[in-house]
Amino acid sequence: MIPRNRREIRTDILQENMKKIRGSVPGGVKVLAVVKADGYGHGAAETSRAALAGGADMLAVASVGEGVSLREAGISAPILVLGAVLDIDASDGVEHGLIQTVCTPEMVRICEEAGKTLGKTAEVHLKVDTGMGRIGVRNTEERDAVLAEIGKCPHVKLTGVFTHLSDADGDDEGMAYTEEQFRIFRQLTDELPEDVIRHCANSATIHRRPDMAMDMVRAGISLYGYPPVEDNIGLKPAMRWTAKISYIKELPAGAYISYGRTYRTDRNTRVATVTCGYADGYHRAASGKAEVLIHGKRAPILGRICMDQMMADISGIDDVKAEDEAVLMGTDGNESITAEDLAKWSGTISYEILVDAANRVERVFRSGMSEEDGKD
Ligand SMILES: *Cc1c(COP(=O)(O)O)cnc(C)c1O
Repeated sequence: MIPRNRREIRTDILQENMKKIRGSVPGGVKVLAVVKADGYGHGAAETSRAALAGGADMLAVASVGEGVSLREAGISAPILVLGAVLDIDASDGVEHGLIQTVCTPEMVRICEEAGKTLGKTAEVHLKVDTGMGRIGVRNTEERDAVLAEIGKCPHVKLTGVFTHLSDADGDDEGMAYTEEQFRIFRQLTDELPEDVIRHCANSATIHRRPDMAMDMVRAGISLYGYPPVEDNIGLKPAMRWTAKISYIKELPAGAYISYGRTYRTDRNTRVATVTCGYADGYHRAASGKAEVLIHGKRAPILGRICMDQMMADISGIDDVKAEDEAVLMGTDGNESITAEDLAKWSGTISYEILVDAANRVERVFRSGMSEEDGKD
């Protein structure tokens, strides 16, 4: 079946992005590819393979379930679960050789129990909260309580310690806060053994502050081609999103378009109906601002975005017919729409646009430009 609405993922671009990131971090520093949320919507297994081929040393997911899926897809690289240990799935994590994140003595005991039962070692990283306010030990007392518990647990092995920088893509004040987070992190981890790997850098930090790379960096959004700050290494978006034109009509001046009559034509207008709506992950909040690309030209979306369809103004575009393609995100001729553009139109960030593809949007993988599309 030919899909009406699909997201095309270029695995060669993902691999190339990882190579560029790898090349930009100081020598000897490991690179972890963050593939949580189904690889930011790009497919976790496919993204993992591309990232590993591009030189990634480790992968990270949000939950044990996401990690187990990667193991079931045949991926044997080290996988870190970024979320805190939960009793409900900790033993699945140990069974599948996932590295789990601990920040309380209780979490350590859960891992010990799972390791003991399975006759395996539960590998863990300690999370430090230096100012994100999410998970992690916040001071020496909390840190020491976790380390003491690990010391008592023969089936638990501490191999890493990390923190998350909450404002590394921010302004000068944000960077001052980042400096402070980095200082606290070093202070709380200084006395840990040498072979415990230290990591704190997300995408923004990788590009802005290579001096904060420590033993490993964690690349998320940049791997997908949307660096949150200037990157200077030529990262490229790997996702293209297209739908079809299903119907074309001519409306006279004074005709209303879509729910709530928010748009009224002020002249003769040629309108194309596009097979995509908010149930496909195209945010309704973008109504009144969004544009799509048709035949390489920008076509404004008129009126409210519906659940399954939306209407585009094609008055200035020649020879458009039903079955033609509408590019929702990607390049068409000399024009481009990025996840950043879509995010701006709907008041969110590129991350949310990338992860928001609905199940019914078909995902296809390509390892190069397709002949049929001929567009990069
Ligand atoms: C999601 C996440 C990352 C990746 O952040 P990006 O901004 O996408 O690079 C890194 N570390 C942790 C702990 C995360 O949760």
